[in-house]
Amino acid sequence: MAWHKKPKTNLTKLRLLRTFVQFIMFILMNLTFFLIGATWLVLPVNMPRSIFSSSEGAFFLLQRMLTMAIIPLIPLAVFFLFGAILGRFFCAWACPFGLFQDILGYLSSWIRKYEPTRETNLSLRQIGEFITGATLLFSTFIGINVALGETATVEAFDVFVDQPWAVLSPSAFLFTAIPLLFWWGGIENFFIWDKFVLIDIIFWLRLFIFIFAIIVVIYIPRGWCRWFCPVGIIMGELGKNSLLGIGRNISKCNHCGFCEDVCPMGIRILSHPAEKVRSQQCTNCLDCVAVCPEDAMEIKFL
Ligand code: SF4
Ligand code: SF4
Ligand code: SF4
Repeated sequence: MAWHKKPKTNLTKLRLLRTFVQFIMFILMNLTFFLIGATWLVLPVNMPRSIFSSSEGAFFLLQRMLTMAIIPLIPLAVFFLFGAILGRFFCAWACPFGLFQDILGYLSSWIRKYEPTRETNLSLRQIGEFITGATLLFSTFIGINVALGETATVEAFDVFVDQPWAVLSPSAFLFTAIPLLFWWGGIENFFIWDKFVLIDIIFWLRLFIFIFAIIVVIYIPRGWCRWFCPVGIIMGELGKNSLLGIGRNISKCNHCGFCEDVCPMGIRILSHPAEKVRSQQCTNCLDCVAVCPEDAMEIKFL
């Protein structure tokens, strides 16, 4: 079927464009680092607040507001609004931790990738659902204790009281802990930095989770996004029926399967309704549109 194949330049061009947009978004979310005044973006991406950032991912803000006993209207509005209109679009085009995974993917492209079975995908996704549910429940529990003035109970949870998942999240490790390590005097200060001394076991746990995330992503494209990221879990549910989506024109489709081969989220596109890919995993990255030799994959709105 090779004669059906379009020149790969379509896909390469699209991926280059996407990487460019991801970098621009990364800069916009970290303006403080570039010594430009602050904007405050709240987006459905996996980006913690750090000393460099001029933004905060909606899930991090959601935790912060819940633990402070504030009704989290802004992050909820961000999730519902973007989810209903764009689905997981920001996962492909704007998330800094998504960009990090894509870069890892490019750098490790010589390593053979694995595509787990549908059953494995579903089972592993339950871990992400657990992380999401447990984080929200725990944040609410802390918020209730804050509202009731139960200071002793709140303080007992130490580093977990502000944003519980940020303590373990690999993106928080990448975008806050690692820069701070170097910003505050380099690796030689590693063992005397008071916070690391206070939470040393947590630090090693974070490092372990971070390395685990890297290994997963090297062998399975966007492995963290597929299964473990709470933002992906929430946006997947809210964005499954989003206005923006990808459809397949069955009168043009020759079932060559190229679209499935390139899908970074491992979606079995041909088993979805032709009208729209209704998958919690679709990030609207457009790779399938770019690669289709028959122009059968189409961007749909509504
Ligand atoms: S699922 Fe991936 S791309 Fe989406 S917010 Fe999470 S880390 Fe970022
Ligand atoms: S939609 Fe997929 S299977 Fe159909 S022609 Fe395009 S690439 Fe091939
Ligand atoms: S179905 Fe298409 S748009 Fe959706 S994630 Fe896969 S390649 Fe990207």
